[in-house]
Order: sequence, then C-alpha cells, then structure tokens
Amino acid sequence: MTKSALPVDGEQLQRDIEQIALFGAVDADDGRGRTALPGDEANGEARDYLVARLEEAGLDVRVDAVGNVAGRWTPPSADPNAAAIAAGSHLDSVPRGGIFDGPLGVFAALEAVRAIRESDVSPDCGLEVVCFTGEEGTRFADGVLGSTVATGKRGVDETLALTDGNVTLEEALERIGYRGTGRLDASEWDAWLELHIEQNSRLEDARVPLGVVTDITGTVRCHVTIEGEADHSGTTAMTDRQDALAAASELVLAVERSATEAAASGSGTAVGTVGHLDVEPSVVNVVPGTVSMRLDLRSVERAEIQAQLDAVTSVLETVKDNRNVSTTFDCTYDVPPTPLSARCRDTVLNAAQDCGIEARTLHSGAGHDTMQVADVTNAALLFAASVGGHSHSPKEWADWDDCTAATTVLAESLARLATTDEH
Ligand SMILES: [Zn+2]
Repeated sequence: MTKSALPVDGEQLQRDIEQIALFGAVDADDGRGRTALPGDEANGEARDYLVARLEEAGLDVRVDAVGNVAGRWTPPSADPNAAAIAAGSHLDSVPRGGIFDGPLGVFAALEAVRAIRESDVSPDCGLEVVCFTGEEGTRFADGVLGSTVATGKRGVDETLALTDGNVTLEEALERIGYRGTGRLDASEWDAWLELHIEQNSRLEDARVPLGVVTDITGTVRCHVTIEGEADHSGTTAMTDRQDALAAASELVLAVERSATEAAASGSGTAVGTVGHLDVEPSVVNVVPGTVSMRLDLRSVERAEIQAQLDAVTSVLETVKDNRNVSTTFDCTYDVPPTPLSARCRDTVLNAAQDCGIEARTLHSGAGHDTMQVADVTNAALLFAASVGGHSHSPKEWADWDDCTAATTVLAESLARLATTDEH
C-alpha cells in the first residue's frame, strides 16, 4: 500500500492503456504490439479516445496547428494567470512498437490530474495533460516533432509542410481531424513532468519500480565515407589493395573501443555505435571500393563524447595513411547533454519517499520529448520499470502495479508543484 491521499486508480490507467493498444494492434507471438505512426488512422483513433477521456474528466481540450493535444484543468482555487504545470508524453509508436511507450505517460498524466481533482488539494495554478505529435520519428521527420514546435525550435509552417513522400503532415493531420490552430507554448509552463517506460532493465535489476532521471545523454552523429578502389578479388594481390571495408572495420572497432574506455573511466554513460554501413559495390568477387557509415556517440558528459570523437578521428588518420584510402568525416547532428531540473527532481524524489515508493536516480540514454521541453522550462523525466528491458517491440512490458506506483508519485509531484508558492 502506498501512503498517498490521492485516489489514483490503477485499474482505470490499465483500461486506458489497453484500449489504446487496440488501435493499430499487431499480431505478435510474444507480447502485445501496436503500430500507430504519426497522423495515421490508428494514431487518429488513439487521439479520439484521449480527447473523449479528457473531456469526460472535465478538462478544456485544445489542439494546436501541428496536432499537439492539451487538456487543461483550471481549479477554482487557481490564479487564472499563473503558469500551468504540465505532464504527458506521446501516442504515436514505431512500427510494431510496445503498448506502454508513450501512452503510459499520457494516461498517467490524465489519471494524476483526475485524482488531484477528486482530492482535497487546492492547486494555485492550472494543470495540463499533453500529447505531443510524432515523438518517434517514424514518419515526416526524425522525431520529437510536436515538442520541437512547442519549444519554438521548429516553425509551424515548415513542420506542416514536412512530407512522408506521399502526403504532408498537414494533410495527414487534416485527414484524422487534428490540424488545429495556434501553437502550444511549452515555455509558458511553470514545470513539465513526463512518465515513460524505462526501456532498460536497470530498475528491474534493482527491484525498484520508479526511476528519476538526472541527465539525458547528449548525442553526436557523424557520417564517414572511406574511398578505396574496387578491384577484382581474384587478381588483385593483397599488397595492392585499397579495401574500403577493411579500413572501415578498423573504425568500427575503434568506435567500440573508445566508447568502452570512455564508459569505464568516467560517468559510466558513454556509448558508441556504428549503426549504418553501406558497402559498394557489395559484390562477392570485388574488393570493396567505397564505404559510407554512420556513427552515434552519446554520454551525459560532453567531454566523454569529445574523447570518442578524438579517438575516432585519430584512427581515421592512421587508416588513411596505412591503407591508402581517402576519407571524409562530418558531424551533422550534435545535441548537448541535458541535465534535468533539480527543483522537479527533488519534488519527485521527496514525493516518492513520502508515498513509501522506492525510487532511484539514473540517466536516460534516449531523449524523449522532455529533452526538448527541458530547454524552456523546469522538467523532470520519470521511469516506470520495464520487464526484461525490451522496447520498440511487442515484448515491451511493465508491471501494472509499478505503473500505478509511478502514477501515484507523478500525481503527488504535480500536486506539490502546483501548490507551492515557488511559481
Ligand atoms: Zn516514447
């Protein structure tokens, strides 16, 4: 039993998540999956269900130009001009994704606000439940679409004009009835909280239901090309080759080595991956002539990402000299690490302690909408423990009791943020 006075209804939360799981449900031998890409029919059905539930709970619903949905409760006790406290997540998924990634945070926020509304708490400000458009980056853009518009990093018009090669985001939103007006402005919020499934097994291993994120890792992505010479595999002597793939292989191992070293010596959060490799001509009897590869380097410490970059560029120089190949190296994507708000984190940790729910602090290797929102207001990211650490797969799972515990802490935290005189 948790020690919270807020009447959080875990069964209602479960019903909501299971209902969303029906929209775009996929066959899976193991687990339960869904496919709801931004702006598709299943995403539209999930949004309709959310809007109906927000209205049922008495919230004022608005939809902005890029389809971000917000439901606001302005308590009678609130100063109508006070900045609201917001919470939420997203309802789109990757193809064959899990049923918790996104919906948990949206419906936990709704359940939290509903519970506060039914309690004796008298908030000083409004509370807002939010669903951002297109977090996953499976259609129209690389992801965090709605939250980058809400934080002013991406313009409304350019976002609506994004295309999936067939239709624009605007057309897709119009089709499902979610091309709204105006722009949700996250900088107007006093604070933001997102509950998300962990997508890792650290909490399960520690037998703790709740995680509170301290920092979100920074990410640098680089594009490397290695140009050698394509030649006959039978007639080109080993001493005469300019094998682009053999050169690339040295770099792949260097990325692994430098990330392992950075992880062992520092914050323990460094990771480095070569996730994409194109080999040309990619024919069994031809020495590879060209390789194009993409690197993804992360850590909560910018210096640890830099150490990986330095190691990679130095190996690239060596490979160039030793193997007589030419190379290019560009880093086109560079998002710095995001430390999350101490005010929000402490509120969540204190709320967990007072509720008798065990929590631990950890970092997040994935960005989520919170990484965007954290740039414009105080933000916190809460994790509910994953079962087995699976994610972006029908195997993704969370224990319902853990979801309820995490939602209880979310509700307590929102109530506290909304009733202190800090804002
Ligand atoms: Zn997510």
